[in-house]
Amino acid sequence: MEVAALSCRPLPFVSTAPARRLRFPPYTLRLRPPSPSLPSIRSCVREYWGERHSVGSTGFAITHSSSASVEPTTQEVGAEGSGEWSGDAIRRRFLDFYAARGHKILPSSSLVPDDPTVLLTIAGMLQFKPIFLGKEPRCVPCATTSQKCIRTNDIENVGRTARHQTFFEMLGNFSFGDYFKKEAAAWAWELATKEYGLPAERLWISVFEEDDEAFSIWHNEVGVPKERIKRMGADDNFWTSGPTGPCGPCSEMYYDFYPERGSSDAVCLMDLGDDSRFIEFYNLVFMQYNKKDDGSLEPLRQKNIDTGMGLERMARILQKVPNNYETDLIFPIIEKAASMAMVSYAKADEATKTNLKIIGDHMRAVVYLISDGVIPSNIGRGYVARRLIRRVVRTGRLIGIRGDGHGNSEGAFLPSLAEVVIKLSTEIDPDVKSRQKSILGELQREELRFVQTLGRGEKLLDELLDDAVLNAGNNGNKPSLSGKDVFLLYDTYGFPVEITAEIASERGVTVDMKGFGIEMENQRKQSQAAHNVVKLSVKNENEIVKSIPDTEFLGYDSLSATAVVKGLLVNGNPVNDVSEGSQVEILLDRTPFYAESGGQIGDNGFLYVNGGEDGKQKTVIEINDVQKSLGNIFVHKGIIKEGSIEVGKEINAFVDAQLRQGAKAHHTATHLLQSALKSVVGSETSQAGSLVAFDRLRFDFNFHRPLSEEELMKIESLVNQWIGTATQLETKVMALQDAKNAGAIAMFGEKYSEEVRVVEVPGVSMELCGGTHVNNTAEIRGFKIISEQGIASGVRRIEAVAGDAFVEYVCVRDNYMRRLCSSLKVKAEDVNGRVDTVLEELRAARNEVSSLRSKIAVLKAASLASSATTIEPHNVRIMVENMGDVDADGLKSAAEYLVDTLQDPAAVILGSSPGDGKVSLVAAFSPGVIKMGVQAGKFVGAIAKLCGGGGGGKPNFAQAGGRKPENLPDALKKARADIVAAVSSDSS
Ligand code: ATP
Ligand code: MG
Repeated sequence: MEVAALSCRPLPFVSTAPARRLRFPPYTLRLRPPSPSLPSIRSCVREYWGERHSVGSTGFAITHSSSASVEPTTQEVGAEGSGEWSGDAIRRRFLDFYAARGHKILPSSSLVPDDPTVLLTIAGMLQFKPIFLGKEPRCVPCATTSQKCIRTNDIENVGRTARHQTFFEMLGNFSFGDYFKKEAAAWAWELATKEYGLPAERLWISVFEEDDEAFSIWHNEVGVPKERIKRMGADDNFWTSGPTGPCGPCSEMYYDFYPERGSSDAVCLMDLGDDSRFIEFYNLVFMQYNKKDDGSLEPLRQKNIDTGMGLERMARILQKVPNNYETDLIFPIIEKAASMAMVSYAKADEATKTNLKIIGDHMRAVVYLISDGVIPSNIGRGYVARRLIRRVVRTGRLIGIRGDGHGNSEGAFLPSLAEVVIKLSTEIDPDVKSRQKSILGELQREELRFVQTLGRGEKLLDELLDDAVLNAGNNGNKPSLSGKDVFLLYDTYGFPVEITAEIASERGVTVDMKGFGIEMENQRKQSQAAHNVVKLSVKNENEIVKSIPDTEFLGYDSLSATAVVKGLLVNGNPVNDVSEGSQVEILLDRTPFYAESGGQIGDNGFLYVNGGEDGKQKTVIEINDVQKSLGNIFVHKGIIKEGSIEVGKEINAFVDAQLRQGAKAHHTATHLLQSALKSVVGSETSQAGSLVAFDRLRFDFNFHRPLSEEELMKIESLVNQWIGTATQLETKVMALQDAKNAGAIAMFGEKYSEEVRVVEVPGVSMELCGGTHVNNTAEIRGFKIISEQGIASGVRRIEAVAGDAFVEYVCVRDNYMRRLCSSLKVKAEDVNGRVDTVLEELRAARNEVSSLRSKIAVLKAASLASSATTIEPHNVRIMVENMGDVDADGLKSAAEYLVDTLQDPAAVILGSSPGDGKVSLVAAFSPGVIKMGVQAGKFVGAIAKLCGGGGGGKPNFAQAGGRKPENLPDALKKARADIVAAVSSDSS
């Protein structure tokens, strides 16, 4: 089977980090919810067309964990089908079938879509979205793929229905303005009946109620009897890509497990909450209209086909098993989990079976997610991975899995299951096998991290649930967990909110998701400063893209160019001219300015318009940022310093050469850093993001522990060594596959064109990269790491400087050093030794001062001892004194000395104001006084309050502090009065 790479974009603009590009507005899609109780259309829509992920809005809430599915048993399933159908064979047959009908077989795209507004890939068509929307030219007339997908909105169905997983493979055939309905229907039928050998009488078809054309094709041309073609409403069988844009009806194919029950039973194919009779396995979308602003539909010039067939569903039908989980694609994972839990799947009760299915599904999902570069974390895709992993951990423990399966009872069990997933992996992700080590490592770390807090969290959750049930009982409300508590469990104990909800629902307790959302929002606000969110002000991208061509980038070879103004925007609105003093966004036909992508920030510089009688520059625009929008339109953002500008004008563009040089040095240094890092700590580390600025670089990478001083020095020295070799860089444009074969490093999850730009430092580094680089490593001059720190679990960050910034950094540091040397009067190499000695001397001197102060305080106390007052009738000697500026230690020594000297029964209360607005208080009572019912701790605490503080201690000795020295005299007066009263009464 030949698998070709996709080439759709003319300009190979690739990046080393996820580009922060603005894309299309979110789209909507009609997807049918599997049953009234299952996730809403809205959640499917969100998931499909990419509202950014936010906790609590993903349709990921879990309310059930036990199976409610009615599954046909193996024996009940129809007996037809043709022999041995492994999952692999089904996939191969599908792709080959369409390849034989002119389709190009293309690889699955990553689970992390190219489109930053979409969380995860949930259908085969996602990689073709720009072609369907007319944003990119088609690469081939028609294509076929097997696409790995994750649908988090189906998590509630996992193990509960027979047909849903979160992770599945979608087989698809796509036509980009080539064939249409007739061929799509005929081929789908032929594939189902001839290739897969499904009996025609078991197949049912749904069509959109108004799509007479489809009805007629299915009936008249394909030969499906009318009774087995169902017309359905727009909610189920009409697909739209948004309020406006491409849309069209769709047709689905269903398999009937019990034709003998007759058609009266088949009232509604839609009611698939119970999928024991019918299962939808193939959906054909006929994209034939453009929906206009006024809601009317105009026929599309280029009609498209987008289809999807679930591999596991077809395997379930052909392998004659009761559900997708028992197919050869998933069952080996379940068997492994069952053996680790020492249970038998066949004999297990329904709840255990459901749990095993959850494990089987989620394990596949997390292995493929990690393989595509998604690291468990608390945000976005990382959060999806985290909650799936944590759900497996909890579910595994619930069914009795303990230990790693290799004899270590404290070990993680996920790696053993992942090994099975990886063994089952196929060509849809050839990288899974090569990334085995890092996948297993990541799973192990995440599991152990979770287990550490699981016990404590579960205990707390248990208590909270008890309280909730009790409170509800007392006041007659339904038991509910507050948002604050749910957030505490999430934030401190790593309990994904869905797991909390799941455990709570097992106890009949609901969770306050709204309250949780508020807590999350508060936290988000607090950490907002840390996020650098790019916001272009282009409001109506669709309009602009129609009228403005892609920007030609000249900046690899040139820092200046003449260009024509193609569009102007003020506050996101298109305008024709802009005058002096205004902030403006300028779209040009060509530009030497680099637009932010691949981690490298946009160029700064100036645009000039010449003119006027003296031929001088009439208009001066300062550009301080350039972003890419709508794929390849460069948005130059700046301010008009002089003159005005209008659309159609010719301008002269000049990039700030010095700043660009800084970006170049840092970008090449970033590549060298990545190579050095891999060579020092191992090639399994991978880039997680980067920032290439004019004055510094930041490199984020996946690694599980801090780097040692020694490792950092090695990395630094390797990079500097490569700078010193003055190696000439080579930049080539080549086929993606050739680049990969040559060993070029690509970013996990990044989508590349077939033609890619490869930047090579021969012998050191080769990366797919669209950024600007130095010509020779010597231009970098030097490299210095400034910091290394963890930024999220399993993700670390190195910050460094190169080029001019390196020289400046070294000079500034050297100046500090020189000043230090001159103050300490030593040479630079002796500074450390000298500082150690000075610190040691300081410590000794401080100790001495403290001990002298105590001695002085004792002497002062000795001179006061004779002035102690004796209180009748028990002859208690009391002393209450203000000791001036004696510090707390001195006060303590003095009090101890005095209570000893005055002999039992004695009470000593001393106060002082040692400076800095502080008050110190001490009370020392002998045993006789304590017997009279006064305790030093309580006594001194009450006095300290008067001085704006507090404190306490034992009955015989206590210290306290305060912040109001001005109140000390009055406080001591009160102390005297109180102690006299306490020891003078007859009964004391
Ligand atoms: P359902 O109503 O059964 O959830 P759907 O309408 O959501 O299906 P589509 O969006 O049309 O499904 O996706 C196309 C095909 O992908 C389906 O016909 C099915 O074969 C497969 N598919 C969809 N969702 C899943 C899932 N969660 N698990 C396995 N296969 C799936
Ligand atoms: Mg669905």
